Amino acid sequence: MRPLEDARRDVLSAVELLPIIEVALDDAHRLALATAVVATDDVPPFTNSAMDGYAVQAADTATVPVELKVLEDVAAGHSARGSVVAGTAIKIMTGAPLPDGADAVVRVEDTESAGATVLIKATVGLGTAVRVAGGDVQSGTEVFGQGETITPAHLAVLASLGLARPVVHRRAVVAILSTGDEVVAVDGGALQPSQIRDTNRPLLRALLAEMGADVVDLGIVGDDAAEMRRRIEQGAADADAVITSGGVSMGEYDLVKQILAEIGSVEFWKVAMQPAKPFAFGHVSGTPLFGLPGNPVSVMVAFEQFARPALLKMMGHRAIFRPRVPGTLIGGVSTDPAKTVFSRVVATHVATHTGDGWQARLVGEQSSNVLSALAIGNAFAVVPRGQADVADGGLTSLEMFRWPSTRTYEEAQNDR
Ligand code: AMP
Ligand code: MG
Repeated sequence: MRPLEDARRDVLSAVELLPIIEVALDDAHRLALATAVVATDDVPPFTNSAMDGYAVQAADTATVPVELKVLEDVAAGHSARGSVVAGTAIKIMTGAPLPDGADAVVRVEDTESAGATVLIKATVGLGTAVRVAGGDVQSGTEVFGQGETITPAHLAVLASLGLARPVVHRRAVVAILSTGDEVVAVDGGALQPSQIRDTNRPLLRALLAEMGADVVDLGIVGDDAAEMRRRIEQGAADADAVITSGGVSMGEYDLVKQILAEIGSVEFWKVAMQPAKPFAFGHVSGTPLFGLPGNPVSVMVAFEQFARPALLKMMGHRAIFRPRVPGTLIGGVSTDPAKTVFSRVVATHVATHTGDGWQARLVGEQSSNVLSALAIGNAFAVVPRGQADVADGGLTSLEMFRWPSTRTYEEAQNDR
């Protein structure tokens, strides 16, 4: 058996960066920046008002109330014609450029309008309610580094900088194939005895979509060597990576193995991990191929440990691993010390007498075919090779594959 870390190192070093392209801003979500982004503009581009109110000279408000002459009104999208001088004010809306001569804004709530004049009732300091040009981002500064993942907020910042076509690594196109005579598609009607529904493609399609990859669906192929070979070759030609499930273990019908040995340079490993011990990796016509086991939980674990970080690396992301947090394991677990074991747990963040922290409980059934545990759970409790158990209440590492869902409407009713 190969240690997981060794196997993963080999996989990660064998994949290549996808080409760099320019994309429309709206298509850049979840992609990685191929170069650092340096601002060529100030954000905000001009000094403006943070409030609806009156642009004034702060010195005029030292003693209040004070009456100032209102020179004009300026709305967002317009500029004042004149300047503020001592004893005067310009009525201003949020986002309008601060008029020349003004150095502060008195919010409208602290004023009383009297037509040509305004009564100022609050003292303001220099710069009060003023947003300075470049106060968010200064022209010339590096805003984002190379390899940073573009989130919704990143998109908005890029828009604020006028970057309509960011330079990113191309989205990976990943071909997926389910294998096995017993496997039928979800829309394939009633199951015959001995058949099971294909859960691996729906799982993989969603996992890939979530990380910003595109999918080429090669469907389901029975245990038929010629057809399997045809589809894998098709996938290798059409996609940046191929992911198969099933057919890589010891069974008699483990054809994937046989075929890959014929058409590509693919190695079959026994990885010292549980679940997902059998795993194949290599290249078919230059395209990386991940041969995942058939059991759905093994599929997710092998995807998370090998395919996801490798694909994120190909797509140029700097951060490629799921976050891990330390947590206590209620009930404990005993594991095979020869393997790195990924137990499905529900992790919650709790307040205890010793402070806040993460707490996890095993999700009932831990067999590698029990899919429901993956849906209920949100993390893997990772017990490394060399460790045989975690005691009740003992410390473990929680790899979060999903953060706990948000609070409900009912729970929020108690907020104060
Ligand atoms: P295999 O690695 O092909 O021997 O498959 C291992 C186990 O996973 C068997 O019980 C298969 O029936 C099951 N399996 C294989 N592919 C799928 C799939 N696409 N969806 C659900 N279960 C599967
Ligand atoms: Mg099979």
